[in-house]
Amino acid sequence: MTSTPIALFDMHGQQALIREKLRTRIDAVLASGRFINGPEVTELEEKLAAFAGGGYAVGVSSGTDALQIAMMAEGIGRGDAVFLPAFTYTATAEVPLVLGATPVFVDVDPHTFNIDLADLEKRIALVQAEGKLKPRAIVGVDLFGRPADWPALHALADKHGLFLLDDAAQAFGGDIQGKRLGRWAHATALSFYPTKTLGCYGDGGALLTPSEEKAALYKSLRTHGEGGGRYEVLRTGMNGRLDTIQAAILLCKLELFDQELKDRAKAAAWYNEALGNSVQVPELVPGHAWGLYTIRLPDLETRTRVQEGLKAAGIPFGVYYPKPLHHQPAYQGAHTAGLTAAPALTVAEQLCHQVMSLPMHPYLTQEQVQRVAAAVKAAL
Ligand SMILES: *Cc1c(COP(=O)(O)O)cnc(C)c1O
Repeated sequence: MTSTPIALFDMHGQQALIREKLRTRIDAVLASGRFINGPEVTELEEKLAAFAGGGYAVGVSSGTDALQIAMMAEGIGRGDAVFLPAFTYTATAEVPLVLGATPVFVDVDPHTFNIDLADLEKRIALVQAEGKLKPRAIVGVDLFGRPADWPALHALADKHGLFLLDDAAQAFGGDIQGKRLGRWAHATALSFYPTKTLGCYGDGGALLTPSEEKAALYKSLRTHGEGGGRYEVLRTGMNGRLDTIQAAILLCKLELFDQELKDRAKAAAWYNEALGNSVQVPELVPGHAWGLYTIRLPDLETRTRVQEGLKAAGIPFGVYYPKPLHHQPAYQGAHTAGLTAAPALTVAEQLCHQVMSLPMHPYLTQEQVQRVAAAVKAAL
């Protein structure tokens, strides 16, 4: 049997489909010379908002900067508590810390891997009782592309008067009951890092918001707080713009995006069928964007064995994430500052020993998926 090598993320199949369009779009930017704030940025912003089903989109330099601009716009800083899951990428927690605020880590659900609502409510009450920090914001993460429980998060944020930010860096294209991510929270941060569901050829990101005023504020913040005319600085901002060339690339990729989301869901269904009950597989919920396909194994020893089996079979995999954020040296101080006697983050700690992400992209064939699943099962 001749078998094609399997990639963890697709970097070539998609490119081959749009090569001519990419050349034309990039050539147009080269000819115009408008490398910053060119018309492609505005065109992309309009198309992103339309894709999300309404509201406004603001292109920015990365997913991390999208999170930062959204928090700067709310004036989040010293003395503020920002609640976020302990099981996520470091960027989610880094941003409040950079702004002088304190991340308060929340445990996650063992099946969805997203923020645990009951634990969140408990920690909001604990922060209020301690009285050192002011609860200001919740950052929900749609981990691996699975939308968090946004209706419930919204109700909780409203009840406590908190700003609700969606870190949808892994989940653009996802929805709940047909209403896309981008429309659920007060602001939604997207990343166009190359391996995300919609990726560019470098760094990039965007903010989605239902508010025209907020969109204008985000545009000011991404350009050093300028407004009311060039070199008129109204507020402290940053250099957080999206390059015109990256916008041009994203415009080509956006044309394939709907179909790619369907093909990711198809690959996830093939995996679930092939893996059966041999491991904990992700639930096939409609609206999952399948940024990653992540299984859960019973313990660290089994995971190590499966990793070795896949390595031997030449199949790539990833471990997102090997350490919960509260165990990272960079967050030790913040963790204890947030809550003096924080309850354990048991599920987040367990998952770091158990999860493993298998190849996931729209260009996988069923034969490739079956080959990966067979290698996983053989190593159990
Ligand atoms: C990738 C990612 C980010 C950061 O996005 P960048 O574009 O790399 O800055 C933030 N949060 C999560 C959950 C991510 O996966």
